[in-house]
Amino acid sequence: MNTLAVEGKLRPVNPATLEPVGVVPVTEDVAYVAAGAAAAQSSWARSSFDERRVLLERVAEVLVARMDEIAATVTAETGKPIVEAYTTELMLGVEQVAWLAKNIERVLAPERIRYGIPYLAHKRARIVYQPVGVVAVITPWNFPFSIPLSQVAGAVAAGNAVVLKPSELTPLSGEWVARVFAEAGAPPSLVSVVHGAGETGAALVQAPDVAKVVFTGSVETGRRIATAAAGLLRPVILELGGKDPMLVLRDADLERAVEGAAWGSFANCGQVCVGIERIYVARDLHARFVDALVERARALRIGRGYSPDTELVPLITERQRDRVEDLVAEALERGSEALTGARRPDVELPGWFYEPTVLAGGDPDARLEQEEVFGPVVSVLPFDDEDEAVRLANGTSFALGASIWSRDASRARALALRIDAGMVWTNDLGISYGAGPAPWGGRKDSGFGLTHSKHGLYELSSVKLVDSDSGRVRVPWWYPYGPRAVDGFKGVLELRHGEDGLRGAWAHRRGLAHLAKRYVQQ
Ligand code: NAD
Repeated sequence: MNTLAVEGKLRPVNPATLEPVGVVPVTEDVAYVAAGAAAAQSSWARSSFDERRVLLERVAEVLVARMDEIAATVTAETGKPIVEAYTTELMLGVEQVAWLAKNIERVLAPERIRYGIPYLAHKRARIVYQPVGVVAVITPWNFPFSIPLSQVAGAVAAGNAVVLKPSELTPLSGEWVARVFAEAGAPPSLVSVVHGAGETGAALVQAPDVAKVVFTGSVETGRRIATAAAGLLRPVILELGGKDPMLVLRDADLERAVEGAAWGSFANCGQVCVGIERIYVARDLHARFVDALVERARALRIGRGYSPDTELVPLITERQRDRVEDLVAEALERGSEALTGARRPDVELPGWFYEPTVLAGGDPDARLEQEEVFGPVVSVLPFDDEDEAVRLANGTSFALGASIWSRDASRARALALRIDAGMVWTNDLGISYGAGPAPWGGRKDSGFGLTHSKHGLYELSSVKLVDSDSGRVRVPWWYPYGPRAVDGFKGVLELRHGEDGLRGAWAHRRGLAHLAKRYVQQ
């Protein structure tokens, strides 16, 4: 591991150079921090939409003013290419904040509803969206700024306070999230950070003041958190791992598909929850696609993330590289062929580098084909028809994202409906993470619940019905009961939903007359 909570300190290191990046003290009393957040939340809950909008607009401005420092911290802690620090961390994050600022009132303002039932026509009803309280946001290291930023911003926009627990590998990037909120003028303790490894996260899930947990990370940790939260009946959102398929149809733009495959498989060294791990290509295109992808993979520039030219960076930890090497070794034993990569590159840096790797064929039950690899490794297989492509795409326990590559938009849209995934992109992938109206989330082992969009905001709200009755209409289904009431309600059912409508209700006219009399009686 490159960071351990040793002697009460986290010591993140740069995975390319193994140089230390900083020292962060582990939080001792997580429940105390959550209690402070609860106190801050009680006044923030009463903030107006305007106050929330102003804060979020300011957050966006501070973020841009500080972008170079934030990008440098992210690249130092993760090793990721500096270009990706600006695109997948700052750009995606700030777009979410800006969308929230513009749309929070539209989405969360009280909503008048009509019941649409004639005998309830005298009622007025509204849905109101209230904050849930303190939201615990527990996040991974692979997008150590954009994930916590967008989740924290969503929670704050909905009137909540947040306690963020960033990954122990990237504490300084997480610290930036609280810092931009503080510099933007957020009230003290509205956004707090607790630092530490799994025990700190576990303590946060259990902290008495936490109302809801938003977790992003591995399936294994997600399962642990869901189990702990179940004992407390504490709601959770789980954004877990993926094993995204890419389907390249016969009519795909080959060059674009190859570029997309290379970026989707190797950006952030393949450590992307919606990274492409499996490619299924129409048999006619398969050979040309594979040759071009191998060539593209070999041309990627490997190095330290600070250099603007760097395209492929190291894995986050030695342990993660060991795991990738084990999975590749097992796949090769089970019949896969390494078309390129499958070894450590010759670089002058001590970090945990691994060559971009393209595998062909192989046993569909190999661990590499079923488990999330989370490294610069992709396997490519041909398919003969769309049914087979769908069967292969849906053939793992994950259902996060998927992409379809075709020139025929309607064909791709139809196919998207058959794929087990929370998000399906056509001729692209992943970028909707920055789009405010786009929900984010998966199914099966990829988790449940949504972040981003109006759906994510509803998840961070307590959705309450406020029903106002004029109080002037007597309620016929209250006491007293009797045979005429039974007859009358049978008439109501016939009238409203029976096959014969009015004719069916006619047999119950006496009961209906009885109810009508009671209904209008003041
Ligand atoms: P991880 O599960 O090891 O850790 C995630 C976070 O959980 C860290 O902050 C960690 O300290 C904390 N944690 C660990 N044990 C805990 C416990 N018992 N209780 C509470 N918190 C605990 O995951 P990781 O290695 O940091 O991240 C990689 C994983 O995240 C991959 O599987 C990836 O696919 C997934 N991911 C998913 C999404 C998504 O949107 N679905 C996005 C990014 C990453």
